[in-house]
Amino acid sequence: MQNLYGLSRPELIQVAAGLGLPPYRGRQLFRHLYRHGQTDFGEMTDLSASLREDLASRFSVTHPRVVESSRSGDGAVKLLIELEDGLLVETVAIGSRREAVGGKSGRAQGAGGGASDLTVCVSTQVGCPLACTFCRSGAIAFRRNLTAGEIAAQVLLAERAAPEAAKGRRNVVYMGMGEPLLNTDAVIGSLDFLTDGDGFGIPARRVTVSTVGLPDEMGKLGKAAPHVGIAISLHAGDDETRGRFMPIGRRHRMPEIFAALEELSPSNRRITIEYVLLGGENDRPEDARALLRQLRRLAPAGIRPHVNLIAFNPWEEPEPGPPHRPGAEGDAERFLGMVSAAGFVATLRRSRGRDVLAACGQLAATPA
Ligand code: SAH
Repeated sequence: MQNLYGLSRPELIQVAAGLGLPPYRGRQLFRHLYRHGQTDFGEMTDLSASLREDLASRFSVTHPRVVESSRSGDGAVKLLIELEDGLLVETVAIGSRREAVGGKSGRAQGAGGGASDLTVCVSTQVGCPLACTFCRSGAIAFRRNLTAGEIAAQVLLAERAAPEAAKGRRNVVYMGMGEPLLNTDAVIGSLDFLTDGDGFGIPARRVTVSTVGLPDEMGKLGKAAPHVGIAISLHAGDDETRGRFMPIGRRHRMPEIFAALEELSPSNRRITIEYVLLGGENDRPEDARALLRQLRRLAPAGIRPHVNLIAFNPWEEPEPGPPHRPGAEGDAERFLGMVSAAGFVATLRRSRGRDVLAACGQLAATPA
């Protein structure tokens, strides 16, 4: 039986047409699938009983399956998800307390005193072919691209794993396994399910797609998803250093990536520069100065990126592990201080979920 989960609205309208039904039936199916997460045709009570039976005899609605869930000491939940063909990916659900508007700082928020938010980190590929030297997903074999449905379903499964947080604001970051822009069509399809008001209904500005910076694909994404945030994994202030950690950096150099960013920038989307701090390699004061020189090049185009510094998260498997080490605490603070002093909004992220290998760069979808 054909699985309907993952079909676009036009495709569902086609399915309806195939049953001799008008387009609005396809739109109803879209809502059941992506707004309500409904898998049981019997529960789709705005469809006639005979139509429900007809659909159930021809189609299924199936989601990937959570086969393992690990809760970090800091509350992040890592889901190991099995796809239809048995391959595995990982998704991370990160709950965070939000201050009530005008709330007092520092006080934990109980019921009624401000909500909890959910950030879901989704994967776009099984493994990753880009093999950045610091990233565990690149150290395992690349198997295949995920479909649009498999990407969106991760958000649904994460919401179910963290129902309290899912009642608050929902954010989605495409920062799990894989390079989203090696799978641009499916990513665009999934963005449609997630941001459509008849789908998940997550505002586009709360969604961020992270990429190593593939210029042509950036343009394509930019056109298809005007308000979605874009994060560029830069990790160095010059192309030579970058190319040492990121083989793809030898193919697409910063001027080309920045030109693509400028093309994207006219709409009011958030642009983030990600920078993993690798001890002694890209976290020295001269590295910060090189980064700042690059960032200033974006100013004439009106781009003021947020700078997201990420402490390097080590991993051991697969052997021999990454040829990097975390930097000293003081070095990260100094780097952050320099970037902030130059007038950029910068944060130093200590990723959540390190103890269960759920942090940035640690996803490899191996059962515990
Ligand atoms: N392929 C995309 C999205 C996945 S990674 C990209 O590269 O942007 C999300 C972020 O985690 C990237 O910025 C990536 O460089 C970073 N990352 C990878 N390995 C890491 C590690 N070991 N420690 C900290 N961050 C890491």
